[in-house]
Formats: sequence, structure tokens, C-alpha cells
Amino acid sequence: MSRPLIGVTTQRHPGTEAVKRGRPLYYVSHEYADRLRDVGGVPLLLPPGAPELEVLEHLDGVLFTGGEDVAPVHFAQAPHPRLGTVDAARDAQELPLARAAVARGLPVFAICRGVQLLNVALGGSLYQDLPSERPGAIAHDQPGAVDEESHAVEVASASMLGSLVPASLQVNSFHHQAVRDVAPGLRAVGWSPDGLIEALEGHEGWVLGVQWHPELMPGESHTALFRAFVAACAARRAPARA
Ligand code: MN
Repeated sequence: MSRPLIGVTTQRHPGTEAVKRGRPLYYVSHEYADRLRDVGGVPLLLPPGAPELEVLEHLDGVLFTGGEDVAPVHFAQAPHPRLGTVDAARDAQELPLARAAVARGLPVFAICRGVQLLNVALGGSLYQDLPSERPGAIAHDQPGAVDEESHAVEVASASMLGSLVPASLQVNSFHHQAVRDVAPGLRAVGWSPDGLIEALEGHEGWVLGVQWHPELMPGESHTALFRAFVAACAARRAPARA
């Protein structure tokens, strides 16, 4: 059986003099692609810009990766004074891509910005600046190393996520925005101890978004998410190519 092809979204960088003589780049942290490969997926990087939805005809799943804030115009809010960096070209690509992927029933795995993007794409909203809009005891922008455990996530037992990981999971946390109102078509299945939504999933198919960065975390619980996603992509590919 041929391996599943999985789209991986990317972001733009202005470039530095040391790299490409300051010319802009499309890039993604290597761990996303590496973790997919580790469990049998073939990653295909998708640059920001035009959504190019025809790519979905060739893909068996899409991974929406971390990155900038989502522009609040897409969830009918005025920009907060502490809104972070946004990228209109990336929003313009990923929002239609997420809607189309879900509509086609493609497996979708959405990480950090990805879960926020997925929620907005399907009609939900975000906190634009967690520290001011939802001050709490938990720092969701951890100062330590990216693979350090930062807070717990309590997982709904009757959920796809709950079938993959323990009822309480330790995760890393570096996000500026977060899910506020959950979109129709999604439901919350994981929460940090301060009540913030840390995971969403679809009502049907394999659609999962997590607010932490499992691609950076050691441990079977985090690997299990990639393994289950790639298995779902492989299952979709098999009948299509039969
Ligand atoms: Mn968090």
C-alpha cells in the first residue's frame, strides 16, 4: 500500500542577510514533517498565498501547523491592541483550505495556530491576547524549553482524543491566542486547569485540533496523535487507490 500524502501548511519569513541574502522564505519547523515521516506519512509542504484547493484532490490529509495570530477580521472582532503578527496571505490560504478539507472528509490535524485557524474557519472565535483578555494563574507562553511540560490537559473520556491519550496529559504551552467560542461542527474535548479549551474535534471523520505542540514533545501520548492521524490518512488513501 502506498504511503499517505499529507499537506503541511507553512509560513513566511522576511529572510535574513545570512540566509538567502535577505530574500523572503516559505518555511516550517522541521519537526512537523519529521513526525509524520516517523509514522509512515509523506509530508508535502504547502506555501501561503492562493488556497489552490485542487491540491486536496491529491492529498490524504492536511496538517495545519503553528505560527502567527489569526487576523480578527475573520471572526468579526476589531483588532486588540496586543494582537500579534498576522499574515493575510497565510489566512487567505488556510481558511478556505480548512473548510474544504473538512467538507471533503479529509483527516485534519491542527496544531497550535492550527486549532485556532480551524475553529475560525468553521465559524468560531478566539481570544486575541490571552494575558489581558483571560488573565489567570497559568502561563500559556512558557518561558522554558519548548519540550518542557507546562500544564495539564484534562481530556474528555468519550472522545477520539480520549481514545488516544490518558485522561490527564502534561503538555507544553506557547500560544498567544486561544479558542473562545467553539465553531459549529467542532466540540471541546480538552481543557487546561484554568478552564481554557486546549483541544477540539469534529463530530465525524478524523478532525482534531490541539493547542499544544505534540511535535516537540517526547512520550508515547504525543506520538500517538501523529500515528492515529497518519493511520486515518492511510485508511482514506487505500480505497481511493484500490
Ligand atoms: Mn496552553
